[in-house]
Amino acid sequence: MQDDAFVFMGGTFDPIHNGHLRTALEIRHWLGVDRVGLIPAKTPVHRGDPGCSSEQRLRMVELAVKDEAALFADDREIRSAEASYSLLTLLGLRAELGPERPVMMVMGMDAFLSLPGWHGWQQLTDYAHLLVVQRPGYQQPLCPVLARFAEQHKVDSPEQLPGAAGGLLFHELTPLAISATQVRESILRGESPRYLLPDAVWHYIQENRLYGLKT
Ligand code: ATP
Ligand code: MG
Repeated sequence: MQDDAFVFMGGTFDPIHNGHLRTALEIRHWLGVDRVGLIPAKTPVHRGDPGCSSEQRLRMVELAVKDEAALFADDREIRSAEASYSLLTLLGLRAELGPERPVMMVMGMDAFLSLPGWHGWQQLTDYAHLLVVQRPGYQQPLCPVLARFAEQHKVDSPEQLPGAAGGLLFHELTPLAISATQVRESILRGESPRYLLPDAVWHYIQENRLYGLKT
């Protein structure tokens, strides 16, 4: 993989937690790129309403990466007039970066398993490589349509990726069974979510009374 590749992870980040951050950082080292972007979705199309505003979710991503030069928050989906569809984001990135520069979209196994429900999902590989990281609890076999897709695009190492787009890689990282759902639920129960997410994000949640925080 070229070191000027644009590598990013999209998500709701409601809120961002250490599972996202550790994944992004390990991928940065594994691929040998300078930085990995985190792109919060504006209007989550694959799920119900998030527990706080888009601006607040973006702010938490910014706070989470403030002291880490290898990660950056990218506000393109939140600033966009369009709904947040990965395909539109990739089209925008291609228009911006040109046809030669590799683009790598990172997602967890749970997201990959839901891919056949995404708008234009089979075109995603026209514009980017997909990198699927294992996520504890999501080990199901692939449905036939996804298995066929994997057969067409899968390679075994970053070196085998075909140019700027079109490859699919699976990779195992330090498994962290953290989810934003777990963070939101512990806050709602009045328990501390500390050490599941950066302190700066937890302080922001406290200051803004997010996720039904009591006291
Ligand atoms: P929620 O519980 O609200 O769905 P989440 O923890 O799954 O939140 P998302 O914002 O939905 O977080 O996920 C964004 C991306 O990060 C997805 O591709 C997801 O698979 C991946 N991801 C989230 N948590 C982890 C984790 N602990 N390990 C690896 N990947 C993760
Ligand atoms: Mg999720």
